[in-house]
Amino acid sequence: MPRRLPLLTFLLLLGCLVISTSHALAADNANPVLQAGAYPANITPPLGEAIVGNWQPIPATHIHDELHARCIVLDDGNTKLAIVVCDNVGIPREVHDAAKKLIEAETGIPADHVLISATHTHSATTARGPYYVIPNEEPTFYQTFLVRRIADGVRCAINQLEPAKIGWGSVEEPSEVFNRRWFVKDGALLANPFGGIDQVRMNPPKGSAALDRPAGPVDPEVSFIAIQSKEGRPIALLANYSLHYVGGVPNGDVSADYFGYFAKFIEQKLNAVDQSPAFVGVLSNGTSGDVNNINFSEKGGKSYARYEKMQEVADKIASKVAAAAAKIEYKEEVTLDAAMTDLTLQVRKPTPEILQHFAEVRARAKAGGKQQHARELIYADRADFLMQSPKTFDVPLQALRIGDLAITAIPFETFTETGLELKARTPFAKSFTIELANGSYGYLPTPEQRRLGGYETWLGTNTVEQDASVKIVAELLKLEDSLLSTK
Ligand SMILES: [Zn+2]
Repeated sequence: MPRRLPLLTFLLLLGCLVISTSHALAADNANPVLQAGAYPANITPPLGEAIVGNWQPIPATHIHDELHARCIVLDDGNTKLAIVVCDNVGIPREVHDAAKKLIEAETGIPADHVLISATHTHSATTARGPYYVIPNEEPTFYQTFLVRRIADGVRCAINQLEPAKIGWGSVEEPSEVFNRRWFVKDGALLANPFGGIDQVRMNPPKGSAALDRPAGPVDPEVSFIAIQSKEGRPIALLANYSLHYVGGVPNGDVSADYFGYFAKFIEQKLNAVDQSPAFVGVLSNGTSGDVNNINFSEKGGKSYARYEKMQEVADKIASKVAAAAAKIEYKEEVTLDAAMTDLTLQVRKPTPEILQHFAEVRARAKAGGKQQHARELIYADRADFLMQSPKTFDVPLQALRIGDLAITAIPFETFTETGLELKARTPFAKSFTIELANGSYGYLPTPEQRRLGGYETWLGTNTVEQDASVKIVAELLKLEDSLLSTK
């Protein structure tokens, strides 16, 4: 008797499996069920890799906290989307495309349904070559490692797909965003490395009497998407805030900055610690090319220990998001979709006058003469790079649809006013933008801001034509329209 039971049980189970599989197949088309899975793939570099984000790269000598590619996969029964947010300052398109190619080959998720971005932590190691990526150059060790880990992270998230529900919302946190570009009354603050004078100054001296007014707005909104199992166990939460980064990291330390602390704190505040599978908190960067959290008009202010301020900011945002996530409506059925296009932009080239200026700068440096601007040799190199670059860049633009929410993706450090414009003009009920997504092409000032000058607009910091942001907004709105009209 005992020996026959297993066979009987097996047959019964098989019968159940056949029935439930055919149920599931039938459900796929007629009555789609949302599934979700998430996985934080570790992308911490070896010590010795070059930390970038400041003027000169420095070798990593300590890991303060591990870096991750935080992956979320959603499946509505017909379509899968993958969203990956990497702790990195900015990842070139070649690396994103290589990761997407692996993901498509190994999981079947089409490349245009995968959004990969960088948080813009300034304390991660470079995913570029020694300077920018030179086409056809052999990938570096860290690029190859990053590609493999991103693709593995998406596969692991797929392995953990389970029936889920999803909701979204937003809260405001105005106290941590300040526009960092200022009109100032002191001409000495406005010199640029091209031998000219700007109209605005990035990061002016704090509390200075020369400060007039900020040159642009801020966006206090923290948007978020919360994902739970059918029973209400938190699976993942993706937030989005338009703040450059926080910093306060000693030289040589590797850290995910406040993006890493947000992931940790939101997990605690949602009571999702030590779950299996692990909960994944994610903070993506919004449109923060011209916004940091230094209150320039304030004199003095609190002094912080290392890593203290980033924890304060992360805690503040995670608290607000956790409270808001408890009040939103969760849906078990949503339509997922994605669209992607390449936009051809003219590459900005140095004028003959600028080349002449830098020839003089180099001659003066060679003769041991004094520099006129502290960054002039750096910008001489950047001008050379743009001279050697192709005439145009094809930049990837993407929009994701999650029900009546849209996520737009821009491969630049985007000015906040561009993000605000996309939010105002979206044809969806709600939208937000993830910057430094699917590529990394420098800053994206609006045409008006570019005319004002300042660091973010300098040739080499900004690499594309003056109207780029206008063209990008128009193209993204078209992509959103196409997503709304398909279903
Ligand atoms: Zn930056």
